Amino acid sequence: MEPNHRARQICPAITEIKLALRQVYPNILADDFRDDGSRHTAGLALDILLCSINEEEKRIADNIIDALIDVHALARWGNILFTDYDGNVARYFSVNGNMPYGPPYCQRRSRTSTELIALRDSSARDRETTSKALKLGRAHRNHIHLDYYDWNLRLQTRMDNGVRVYRYKPRNENPINPEWEWDQKIVADWPRHAFLTGFSGALVAALRRREGRDVNTQGFVGLGGCRKQLRAAAARGVVF
Ligand SMILES: [Zn+2]
Repeated sequence: MEPNHRARQICPAITEIKLALRQVYPNILADDFRDDGSRHTAGLALDILLCSINEEEKRIADNIIDALIDVHALARWGNILFTDYDGNVARYFSVNGNMPYGPPYCQRRSRTSTELIALRDSSARDRETTSKALKLGRAHRNHIHLDYYDWNLRLQTRMDNGVRVYRYKPRNENPINPEWEWDQKIVADWPRHAFLTGFSGALVAALRRREGRDVNTQGFVGLGGCRKQLRAAAARGVVF
């Protein structure tokens, strides 16, 4: 089999979302490419730089997430990650939009660091998963992450008589057959929803309904500024 897209390309659905965001938020930092063999390298993920602890940026982030939920029937994204605050307590949430993340409930499901730490310490079996969940939560205080990635479509590759061939890893193959390597350029096939287009107008409308006007995001705090604001919040007693 061949991958269903070229290496280092952004999927059409993410391109569509970026287009809509840029119309309503000129200068918004929405990046989609990292050459690290991740779902970003696969062209299936978008990071939107907004600082969750900053009042104005959090307001905008909530509008973007709510607008993305509004158009989910058209856009069919797989998953969104970001951070909410319950008073002084951070709640790391995900919104499942499609399989394999879960049924498309499109609602925020969140956990605090205290809940995640208790979970990690109470279950040896899931220790790795729960430690990862805590790291993942804390990593999404300074940006929204959205993706279409499906880990069942991850691609392995090898040379076969001078020809590069691909396969999905068989579910029951354990340990992984050493002849096959993970493809770091392609990473994964695009699921069919990643090919969706034509919804940027609906997304722009959903965003403008909330904002009422276009918002210039120049001067937003960025990653360094967000780090400082998160540190100051922790010093004030916010529980991350
Ligand atoms: Zn990301």
